[in-house]
Amino acid sequence: MSNTPKLIAIDGPAAAGKGTLAKRLAAHFDLQLLDTGLLYRGVARKVLDAGVEVADNPEAYAKIAGETARGLVAADLEVDGLRTDETAQAASRVSAVPEVRAALLAFQRDFADTPPYDGKGAVLDGRDIGTVVCPDAPVKLFITASTEVRAKRRLKELQDRGVEAIYAGVLEDMQQRDARDQGRDASPLVPAEDSFLLDTSDLDADQAFTSALEFIASREPFG
Ligand code: C5P
Repeated sequence: MSNTPKLIAIDGPAAAGKGTLAKRLAAHFDLQLLDTGLLYRGVARKVLDAGVEVADNPEAYAKIAGETARGLVAADLEVDGLRTDETAQAASRVSAVPEVRAALLAFQRDFADTPPYDGKGAVLDGRDIGTVVCPDAPVKLFITASTEVRAKRRLKELQDRGVEAIYAGVLEDMQQRDARDQGRDASPLVPAEDSFLLDTSDLDADQAFTSALEFIASREPFG
């Protein structure tokens, strides 16, 4: 039996289908799941609640964001409101602060190395899992889709939740968040060189899952 840990790293922009795929893969292989976006959203929520604006004083903001990240506990991730677009936008600002990323790194690596609840391994999804958090993961997936398709998916998700939204606004939010996530100096969103690129623009969730499984079957220790 191989000693390689069962670790799946999933990265990609918002609403590309990462979350759905990560859940299905975790259930299929009996692995523990960590949605790392929630960590950044948790920090963002606390910073928003404290009323700190990045424009006021970028250095003070970075300090508070970094301190908040260090003090983040699991209970902070169960708060309602982490899934709102306001929190997503704020998360993409706090996540550009190097101190925040550094403060959240150990938690993510510990989870990958020793998944809780006797997990056999882990699935982590985010923006820098394959490049920074788990560069040795045996399976790295980069899930993407056109901005328009992602904005339509997000719009539908919001409408299904009864949130009022218009396409143009969702598209603009998504473009801003993409630009920040891809353009930042600290761990920008880029595919790891050895990642499997999966464009889900023309795929439904089942097709994306099947395609990911085919790739995973070619990798130790899954194959
Ligand atoms: O994945 P989700 O949309 O919840 O992530 C919210 C924001 O958190 C992203 O737009 C990104 O700025 C940040 N993030 C990150 N690195 C991760 C996960 C999320 O920078 N590993």
